[in-house]
Amino acid sequence: MLNGEKKIARPLRWAMIGGGRLSQVGYKHRSGALRDNTAFQLVAGAFDIDAQRGRDFGVNIGVAASRCYDNYSQMFTTEATRPDGIEVVTIATPNGTHYEITRAALNAGLHVICEKPLFFTSAEVIEVKQLAAEKGLIVGVTYGYSGHQMLLQMRKMIANGDIGDVRMVEMQYTHGFSANDSADKFSDAQKWRVDPKIAGPSFVLGDLSTHTVYLSQLVLPELKLQSLLCDRQSFIPSRAPLEDNAMVLMHYHGGAVGRLWTSAINAGSMNSQKIRVIGSKASLQWSDYQPNELVYEVQGQPNQVMHHGMPYLDESALADDRLGALHTEGLTESWSNIYLKFAQAIDAKQRGDEAALSQMVYPDIDAGLEGVRWIENCVRSADGGSVWVNVG
Ligand code: NAD
Repeated sequence: MLNGEKKIARPLRWAMIGGGRLSQVGYKHRSGALRDNTAFQLVAGAFDIDAQRGRDFGVNIGVAASRCYDNYSQMFTTEATRPDGIEVVTIATPNGTHYEITRAALNAGLHVICEKPLFFTSAEVIEVKQLAAEKGLIVGVTYGYSGHQMLLQMRKMIANGDIGDVRMVEMQYTHGFSANDSADKFSDAQKWRVDPKIAGPSFVLGDLSTHTVYLSQLVLPELKLQSLLCDRQSFIPSRAPLEDNAMVLMHYHGGAVGRLWTSAINAGSMNSQKIRVIGSKASLQWSDYQPNELVYEVQGQPNQVMHHGMPYLDESALADDRLGALHTEGLTESWSNIYLKFAQAIDAKQRGDEAALSQMVYPDIDAGLEGVRWIENCVRSADGGSVWVNVG
């Protein structure tokens, strides 16, 4: 159980790029990273494309005025001159900036925690992975819900053979907030999401489904994708060539199959991300709408709903519990768990403990690479006429 006691020798000196006053995702990063004040300390930032607003915001949340910067270049240069300069930076800016900022941060000797989708192309990720290796630095990717402990329970039960041989993976990440085009006109966060110059080659495939694909890789680390077929549409025509709806069929090595639906035009739906793994004996299902519950359905037996924090769970799931079974845990705790793992990975890297690092399960640069490859392959399939493409 996690109670905030320190897991690393001292908190890491942390900065943010983006994530300021008007950002959608910034607070998720801070509430995750700062949940345990033994893991990170927010000491600097270039919080906004509008320098004055960013400075004002940084001071408002308690960062020293002298360490609220106009832009990330100024921050990297100035912080490098301080004996207590930053060690790790989070990049919470729109997609099209991630590659350039990550490279600059690594070249400044900083560990990086970056938003998804990591970059536009897998070639860029492979190049940056090499750079990070040369510099001895970590790159983590914030697949937000992947820190929920019930997913570790799912991973363990599948590895134990509790559902038998895996036959099918059924995934969904959809919502209805882009069912019409009003947000495309009025919301800055939506405008860039449907602009290929800033969003990259996809809208919902990158914005939503990369999360769920990572969940499938987390719970099924042995399952490797072989081929896929993607069909994507823009129900709001002005979004083309980027899709606001897509369906993907998958074949895995070994004979299992998969299906994923991702959409921002699922009118009336507030949020539905779910993953169901169907085996030869039983199925397991988890949804981020009921994240504390893992549904275990054994063919021929009454269904079971497993609950977080209960002693019947695997020790890996109990180790990441924070509040106990009496209280609900959700997105905030999940982000806290991921950030704690980033801190432990960075600490292991700083100590040169590669053995410990190799045992850690967290969304690293390979998880970022898989997400970018997923988008590339889906786009290749869809734009080739929704044909099957081999992916590995
Ligand atoms: P947003 O448009 O709401 O906010 C982007 C922020 O970045 C703005 O405040 C802007 O001022 C700032 N910014 C832009 N360029 C900058 C620069 N060069 N330097 C400093 N600040 C800069 O976008 P958002 O919805 O918060 O998305 C940001 C990123 O987070 C995207 O990559 C998105 O895919 C990702 N995201 C991830 C999750 C998740 O659950 N992991 C959720 C939402 C968004």
